[in-house]
Amino acid sequence: MMKKKASFIALLLALCIIFSMTGCEIPVFPSFEKIENVPSRSLSSDDTSPADSLEEAYKDFYSLVPPYDSAPSVAINDDEPFFDSSALTTEPFEYYSERDALGRCGAAFANVCRELMPKESRGIIGSIKPTGWHTVKYAGIEGNYLYNRCHLIGYQLTAENANEDNLITGTRYMNVDGMQPWENKVADYVNRTAHHVHYRVTPVFLETDLLSRGVLIEARSVEDDEINFCRFCYNVQPGITIDYSDGSSEGPEYTGSKEETAARSDVTPETGATTPPLPMPPADRVTGETVDVARDYVLNHNTKKFHYPECDSVKDIKEKNREDVHSTREDIISQGFDPCGKCRP
Ligand SMILES: [Zn+2]
Repeated sequence: MMKKKASFIALLLALCIIFSMTGCEIPVFPSFEKIENVPSRSLSSDDTSPADSLEEAYKDFYSLVPPYDSAPSVAINDDEPFFDSSALTTEPFEYYSERDALGRCGAAFANVCRELMPKESRGIIGSIKPTGWHTVKYAGIEGNYLYNRCHLIGYQLTAENANEDNLITGTRYMNVDGMQPWENKVADYVNRTAHHVHYRVTPVFLETDLLSRGVLIEARSVEDDEINFCRFCYNVQPGITIDYSDGSSEGPEYTGSKEETAARSDVTPETGATTPPLPMPPADRVTGETVDVARDYVLNHNTKKFHYPECDSVKDIKEKNREDVHSTREDIISQGFDPCGKCRP
């Protein structure tokens, strides 16, 4: 096994050298180069590469991505991560790019391992509005919300929750169908083996777009070759037309129940965003002035359902899939979870 890995690394090293001598065919993201070598949480501000070179890099990279067809993600670069594999380490690290002048997130890179995984229940992220954010609902989408607050590096991997450098606006389709299967694959592997996985997620923004076209997820396990992939997840939602410059959208109208509309009419709308009514809990759970108060819920990361702690189904949730949270209903739904049909939280 060790031998196989050594020769694998040697091959990659050789490839790197060949590429660097022949003029690289692999697009190089300047932020990637820097992020690997900066031993701090965020990139330094004395940025040596001008902004437009990053813009060019994203454009070059995006030209490799086939147009969205029907698969939520696609292999890029023969499914090989772009990062320097000669530098694989078991040392835990996590880096988040500083947001740019437009407030957009850059690459997030971590060595996913048990030490970084969440131990405490997560808090509320509903206050964060990533670039391109709109609270908008359509018919034909599970849960009806078009957008989720997407963690670049999933909460279950590094426990980064309300970190604005790690949250982007993503369609529910990208979050749930595109990204989560890959996150789960990595989380399951690390839980099972206690190994390490170099894991980098880069949102790809074109020009001055506020909404990313998608994210590139690269992952490689350190101790063996089990995890090795390079996938682009499309920030699309079937049936919905999206304007990437500002995140505005068009699609089949969502007509919620009258109760919902009336109940939420007192909620302050977000500036500039289309704000159809938000869902609200049944009247008996409305306390005081606040309609959607934070309380205890239990999330099932496997089924993507959430429950009241007293629900019968909770005891059947496997430890690795269970997360106890103190949060609001809207916040949980905006992260791609659906209410359990039994306890109806
Ligand atoms: Zn339940």
